Parts: sequence; structure tokens; C-alpha cells
Amino acid sequence: MVAHSARRGLRARAPTIMSPSPSKILCVGKNFHAHAAELGSSVPSEPLIFLKPPSCLIASGEPIVMPRGVGRVDYEGEIAVRIGKRARHVSEAEAWSVIEGVLPLNDVTARDLQATDNQWSRAKGFDTFCPIGSMSTVSAADFPDVTLITRVNGEERQRAQASDMVFSVPVLIAYITRIMTLEPGDIVTPGTPEGVGPLSEGDEVEVELEGLDILRNPVEGEGDVGS
Ligand code: MG
Repeated sequence: MVAHSARRGLRARAPTIMSPSPSKILCVGKNFHAHAAELGSSVPSEPLIFLKPPSCLIASGEPIVMPRGVGRVDYEGEIAVRIGKRARHVSEAEAWSVIEGVLPLNDVTARDLQATDNQWSRAKGFDTFCPIGSMSTVSAADFPDVTLITRVNGEERQRAQASDMVFSVPVLIAYITRIMTLEPGDIVTPGTPEGVGPLSEGDEVEVELEGLDILRNPVEGEGDVGS
């Protein structure tokens, strides 16, 4: 009981880890060829977007909580960007001007539920399923060289560069802002590379943007409370 209360307290503080808090977390699926292949599919002909709720955000150091009874829960290391100003109908050429910085993000996913649900709100939206690290400023010219490394218990599982994306961040910003307004604080996360895999209670997962920041979270079971 005590542990659960403490955990809930940590969650309640999560939105203060960035100001303004994001109104939405815009995610992209199957945006790396090898990752689409490992899921048994191919990359889509246009970006596949979905939303995670801001209620699933946690900071580095806070626990990812494995929900009871959902089967496999995976890490997905991603190179996310944070929006710095309101954006609507932004061209690819202008896209970098609305980006405030980059940050490591873990798009934690209940993989078995993703397979059974046509929409991914449940599989992607559990509390604690969106750890984010600290933001760094990176120029448009340097962004393609940003390197992502994901480790579980110190063992490397994913390594990719931003330049490996099928749809680049400027293409994604242009695509998304034709659909919806991006607000300051919103997060756009452009998908995970190959090497996704399951987490277990007691693991520690790291998502590093090399030379910029390391996001590090322990993995806990849900226990007998909080249902
Ligand atoms: Mg993802």
C-alpha cells in the first residue's frame, strides 16, 4: 500500500517535468523498415499516426508499471521532438522552426493487446507507458546524425540514427499539421527501430540519445493494489 501510494505520488508529479505540459503525444508507427519487418509487416505508404495520452508520461527514474494480465509489455526507444510554437499547415521546409528540441522517449507498448485491438489506445495508453528524458537543442543539420541506443539491464538492444527513418521529422510535422494543430509542449515521436523486446519486473531500461541524454527507468509489477 505504501509503495503504491508513493508511486501514485510520482505519477502525479510527472506533468511538471516539462512546462507547458503537452496537450498530446503524437506517435508514428512502423517508420523504420527493419522494425516493420520484425512485426511481420511492411512500412505504410503514408505515415501511420496514433496518440498516447499525457497521463502516461513519467520522468527518468520513475518506474514503468507492468499492468496485470496484459501479457507481453515491450520497450520502444525513440528520438522524440518537442514542439516550441503553435503549428498548423507547416511546410517541410519550415518544420524545424516549430521544434524546440529533442529528447529520448520510451513508447512502452502492451504488445499482445496491440495485436488484438484494432486501435491502440489501450496497448499504448497505460499509466507510466511514456517515459521521457531531458530535452536538448539540436540543429536541423545535426538531427539526422542523432544516434539512439536502447539497453535493458545494460545490454544493448536497439541502435539507429534519425536518418534511418522512412518518413523524416520534417515530413511528419508537415503531414501532422495538415490534420491537427500542434501546441507548444506537444511531443512528436517518430517511431522505433528494430530490436524491440519484452520487459520484465525488475528490469532497468535505458533510452540514450548519444551525447545528449540518457532516460533510465526501472520496471515494476503492479502488485495487488490499484485495480
Ligand atoms: Mg513506437
